Amino acid sequence: MKALIIGGGIGGVSAAIALQRVGIEAVVFEQADTLREIGAGLSVWTNAVKALRKLGAGDSVLASGSIIERFEARNWQENQAGKTPVTDEVRGAVKQPPDFDERTVLTEELHKKHGVQG
Ligand SMILES: Cc1cc2nc3c(=O)[nH]c(=O)nc-3n(C[C@H](O)[C@H](O)[C@H](O)COP(=O)(O)OP(=O)(O)OC[C@H]3O[C@@H](n4cnc5c(N)ncnc54)[C@H](O)[C@@H]3O)c2cc1C
Repeated sequence: MKALIIGGGIGGVSAAIALQRVGIEAVVFEQADTLREIGAGLSVWTNAVKALRKLGAGDSVLASGSIIERFEARNWQENQAGKTPVTDEVRGAVKQPPDFDERTVLTEELHKKHGVQG
């Protein structure tokens, strides 16, 4: 069996890796020539960390991220509107420390894990 996946974003490539891990060949078709930055970064929370580790892509991706220490909300004049620390208690509750990656780093790591096909 061969799976054809349209779209090489996080979802498509993750699906391809998951299929390959159970022995199904997966080819990803992506319309874009290059991976582009969308937004400033990507917060990777507990469920995503667990999923990446299950795909065997967790360590390399997470090593390129950093631990989120706090969230800050600012208005358009850069004045702080609110601040929420991410404490050990919060990390304990989610079991895995939250990480923050540049989106293209995450997508590139997933593409490397899948191998260049399609
Ligand atoms: C500004 C912003 C910030 C975000 N921040 C976070 C965050 O911090 N944490 C978080 O968990 N989520 C965040 N998200 C949501 C997250 O980005 C999406 O849930 C995720 O990217 C969805 O992945 P996907 O692979 O399903 O879709 P996409 O990333 O949209 O990928 C779809 C891919 O399919 C390709 N494609 C489309 N049509 C075709 C076609 N006909 N043929 C070939 N290729 C095609 C596109 O070019 C694209 O590469 C954010 C989203 C945005 C917009």
